[in-house]
Amino acid sequence: MSIPENLRRVMESVRDAELKAGREPHSVQLLAVSKFNPKESVEKAVEAGQLLFGENRVQEACGKFEALKASVPQIRLHMIGSLQRNKVKQLLPIVECVQSVDRLELLVEIEKRAAELGKTLDILLEFHTGEESKAGFPDTDTLFRALDYFPNLSHITCRGLMTMAPWSSDAQTVRSSFKTLANLRETCISRYPGMDFSVLSMGMSGDYRIAIEEGSTLVRIGTAIFGDRS
Ligand SMILES: *Cc1c(COP(=O)(O)O)cnc(C)c1O
Repeated sequence: MSIPENLRRVMESVRDAELKAGREPHSVQLLAVSKFNPKESVEKAVEAGQLLFGENRVQEACGKFEALKASVPQIRLHMIGSLQRNKVKQLLPIVECVQSVDRLELLVEIEKRAAELGKTLDILLEFHTGEESKAGFPDTDTLFRALDYFPNLSHITCRGLMTMAPWSSDAQTVRSSFKTLANLRETCISRYPGMDFSVLSMGMSGDYRIAIEEGSTLVRIGTAIFGDRS
């Protein structure tokens, strides 16, 4: 199957899942995860109308997207993988959002580098909801400590939360991970009234329909669009 065809089918399936879940039409955004795929594949997706992409490694992201964004400025890139502090400076010029903020230290570094660039950056806070994966804030205490720090940040805008469900064939396990994130968003909204938690980034190729049922506003899809990475 070709990339444009895959994109069309995934988009249709997202719209169908919105409808079946009683969600507003177009309330879920599609982020195409292009990690491990060449620049040419991204170009095919762009030609098919996809402009929002995700990468999980800084080196690879810069290698592809510096050139891509130079030729198509409407392309938007999100960082979705674990991020080392010493890579932030290189990453910031090409991303509009870091979805994988998982510690206060990273916020402090992003603030510093964004200020140097004179840029304001969107972030999502990644929360750990699955057993297997290690990514994300491990508990609400550390998450709230990071959120408490936001009055000190003038170059970062919080947009919401992100999670990865455990890799499991059991739909209930996956669903309960998404429910945890959706509930946490409600807690954040009442605890931090001035802040924006409108984005709930959850759902990948294998579980995005469940994520949409549980309130996802942004699904991150790789293999269903670009094919197997292995
Ligand atoms: C790779 C990746 C995805 C996409 O996974 P697929 O199963 O290929 O759709 C989504 N989110 C994150 C954080 C990833 O690392």
